[in-house]
Amino acid sequence: MHRGEANRLAILGAGPVGLEAALLGVRLGFEVQVYERGRIGEHLHRWGHVRMFTPFGMNSTAAGRQAILAEKPDHTFPANDECITGREHVRIYLEPLARTKLLKDRIHTECQVVAVGRERWTKSDSRADAKASLPPFRLLVREKNKERIETADYVFDCTGTFGRHRWLGEGGIPAVGESAHEAAICYGLDDIAGERKGHYAGRTTLVVGGGFSAATSVVMLSELASSAPETWVIWLARTSSTLPIRRVPNDPLRERDRLAVRANTLATRADGNVEFHPHSFVTAVESLGQDKGFRVTARIGRSGQQRTWEVDRLIANVGYLPDWGLLGELQLACCPITSALPRLGAALLERDGEAGRIPAMTPELLRTSEPDLFVLGAKSFGRDSRFLLGVGFEQVRQVLQMLTGKKIPGE
Ligand SMILES: Cc1cc2nc3c(=O)[nH]c(=O)nc-3n(C[C@H](O)[C@H](O)[C@H](O)COP(=O)(O)OP(=O)(O)OC[C@H]3O[C@@H](n4cnc5c(N)ncnc54)[C@H](O)[C@@H]3O)c2cc1C
Repeated sequence: MHRGEANRLAILGAGPVGLEAALLGVRLGFEVQVYERGRIGEHLHRWGHVRMFTPFGMNSTAAGRQAILAEKPDHTFPANDECITGREHVRIYLEPLARTKLLKDRIHTECQVVAVGRERWTKSDSRADAKASLPPFRLLVREKNKERIETADYVFDCTGTFGRHRWLGEGGIPAVGESAHEAAICYGLDDIAGERKGHYAGRTTLVVGGGFSAATSVVMLSELASSAPETWVIWLARTSSTLPIRRVPNDPLRERDRLAVRANTLATRADGNVEFHPHSFVTAVESLGQDKGFRVTARIGRSGQQRTWEVDRLIANVGYLPDWGLLGELQLACCPITSALPRLGAALLERDGEAGRIPAMTPELLRTSEPDLFVLGAKSFGRDSRFLLGVGFEQVRQVLQMLTGKKIPGE
């Protein structure tokens, strides 16, 4: 191990990347504890009805599958090339992995890490002469409304980004009135074809956003319109292109490309109960009363002409943000543009606009200015939505190899 007996590893988040880190960490002899604010795979539960666009083989690892099969030889996995939903992935892979003997007593669910600092130190203390002997991390943990302190020699922050939404207003700040109605606006991915059908059927919904989440919402609403023809969709996006979703050239992920094509077709076709307004910037959101809908105002087109709609439902698929506040008392900062890890963020910016291309995960890109603290998984990419699980698994391998000096086989 890197520093003699000091091998306590605290992992924040039991999403796919946190669980992979826990599995490999235990195998390498770390004293692992995982703290999870919600359930195993909490964020996947929240968009569980959505079909993943990467196949199962890319969303799981040989180490994970073997760990499950070692205890449950009859457990069956989907084919490596099968695309299953988020909920199925939790049931078939993440939960069984969390239940293995290796991990089950180390995972604390419904247990939030509120803040991370260091024993005796604060952010502003000089570390110039203490590099070799930095004290352990202190974690303020909240479980069932009770708080306690846990300590660790290493921290892997795998808390993702799905827990914090961005704002729909122009310039990325809340539109006038938006924060007051935050609870009534859907910032995630409602199960429009399933349990939330009654909420959207026959209603007019305004969708804001130009990424794959917005595409998913618009496609689901337009499918709902075939059984409930009164369903209508107004789609606003910042792009000036008449095609809202930027396709990845020769996209190897067919599910993702299929979604992009379907959404772009709906935006341009004009007969699918969808009207698309490019170059739109929302300025104000007003409530029409409890469950009576919203009045939404936006500047649209090159002229910036103001337009107002009265709609029943409002979906803001405008992206998510990592929570760097959690690490606020440590000496590290995120990339000021991407909110990703600083070096990784800079490397991502070099390939900005190239949807399929991301940098190779080297230890240099993953190292932070706070020794022994690593930010892995979707959070490490900040606002950049090109993160894929395979990248997160590679990050875990790279960091554990760096800490232990042991070679960890890849996929
Ligand atoms: C709708 C959608 C579909 C996607 N589909 C794919 C896909 O098909 N393929 C793909 O490769 N990627 C996909 N992604 C991108 C990405 O892989 C996922 O977001 C994935 O869940 C990221 O895994 P993670 O482990 O980094 O973080 P998460 O899955 O977000 O896990 C973070 C965990 O940390 C917990 N947590 C947060 N804060 C705290 C705290 N303070 N203390 C303790 N616990 C905390 C959360 O509850 C959560 O369980 C998709 C993303 C979205 C939003």
